Amino acid sequence: MKTCLLWFRNNLRISDNLPVHYAYQNFDQVIPVFLYPTTHTEHPTGSFAWGKAKHRFFDESILWLKNTLELDGSTLYVDTGSGSNVDRIQNLAARWNVDAIIGPDEPSFNEQQECIAIDHWASGRNVKTIWKEERTLFQQHELPFELADLPQSFTPFRKKVEKYATPAAVLPAPNITSLELDCHWEPTSDFSIPSNSAHPFHGGVASAWDRLDHYLWNTEYITTYKETRNGMLGPDFSSKFSAFLALGCISAREIYAEVKRFEHQVTSNESTYWLYFELLWREYFQWIARKHGRDLFLQGGLQPAKPRKNYREKHFQKWTDGTTGDPLVDANMVELATTGFMSNRGRQNVASYLVHDLHLDWRYGAAWFEAHLVDHDPASNYGNWLYIAGVGNDPRPFRKFNTKFQAERYDPEGRYVNTWLD
Ligand SMILES: Cc1cc2nc3c(=O)[nH]c(=O)nc-3n(C[C@H](O)[C@H](O)[C@H](O)COP(=O)(O)OP(=O)(O)OC[C@H]3O[C@@H](n4cnc5c(N)ncnc54)[C@H](O)[C@@H]3O)c2cc1C
Repeated sequence: MKTCLLWFRNNLRISDNLPVHYAYQNFDQVIPVFLYPTTHTEHPTGSFAWGKAKHRFFDESILWLKNTLELDGSTLYVDTGSGSNVDRIQNLAARWNVDAIIGPDEPSFNEQQECIAIDHWASGRNVKTIWKEERTLFQQHELPFELADLPQSFTPFRKKVEKYATPAAVLPAPNITSLELDCHWEPTSDFSIPSNSAHPFHGGVASAWDRLDHYLWNTEYITTYKETRNGMLGPDFSSKFSAFLALGCISAREIYAEVKRFEHQVTSNESTYWLYFELLWREYFQWIARKHGRDLFLQGGLQPAKPRKNYREKHFQKWTDGTTGDPLVDANMVELATTGFMSNRGRQNVASYLVHDLHLDWRYGAAWFEAHLVDHDPASNYGNWLYIAGVGNDPRPFRKFNTKFQAERYDPEGRYVNTWLD
């Protein structure tokens, strides 16, 4: 009887999930495991506690997976132990004497390092390790170029991908085999979603598909996405797929397939295309992360010269508290702290303000986002921060947003600012 440990990371779903598919197709006994993390985010001089909204969305996503596996007679072993992920996986693999460890091949540096360390441990013990890609629209071998030749900026990347590649069909959910294992994990988060939140969604796969049905099939809001996507107020100016994608409650390919089906069955226009365009931005950052590894998290990013590196605590605290005196920035930072979400327009403005107005080290801003965003994704977060700080792949010295002008343009009546500031 062949047994494997199936390690869920940020892929908290069953369908279109290659490691899950592989495990259930190739092993008699599958032990699904999730390592509950410390709810803190490290930054250069310490750590930030996670925001409550993020914590709740995270717990709900895990709970969906656990409940779903239990319906099929299995379970999710949620490990709440301490120590590094590598030690925890090794201990569990040894405890259950598994033949293999299977998990997602995530693109970011720390996650890659964990796989390498586990490979090393497993190689001397006759335990196989199998890491499978599931996070992106394309597998690495499906890209129309070698990773080393990843285009230097988004537009040539998009053009090549659009011309030479199409996302593969989604994988069906495998048959889950039963498993007897005791695990009594329960969510610990306590947070009520505020009534004015632009992100009033619960975590988990069912909620992801409800959101997709709402945005595409029920309201057809996708057909005006290109015109509304720069909004800041309410749930429907943009898709709000990001948090579900970040935790893997839905895959990028599943969204792509639904957009195509919608285009085929209802209508296709510039807006329906634009959702794919934005998914390609996400895709690009995933491949940048895989290619550049640790550099994504360094102050100088992908550039040789280091930018400004100040950390003035009082200035930073004003930014995090939303008390800088700039209404657009402050309203956005209050929204983030209150709801765990901020629009793309907001993120660009507050990030620019931190880097180009307050002259602070961008990594603190990125770490604050990491601790608070319900949709935190290392590749998208750190990739976007690098871009705004001017140390990404495509450096331009001044990606500075004029927040007064931006407020006049995107919040002319002050409705957004008044929602979040007294
Ligand atoms: C400083 C900064 C930090 C960011 N951090 C994150 C992050 O941690 N996680 C994250 O998912 N996005 C991040 N973004 C990108 C973007 O702001 C969010 O993806 C978007 O606001 C999520 O809302 P939505 O799902 O309604 O987006 P939509 O506008 O509906 O877009 C659809 C999807 O396309 C993708 N997408 C759109 N814009 C971007 C972009 N600029 N970069 C990467 N993917 C994009 C997302 O997966 C999104 O869900 C960041 C942007 C900035 C400027």
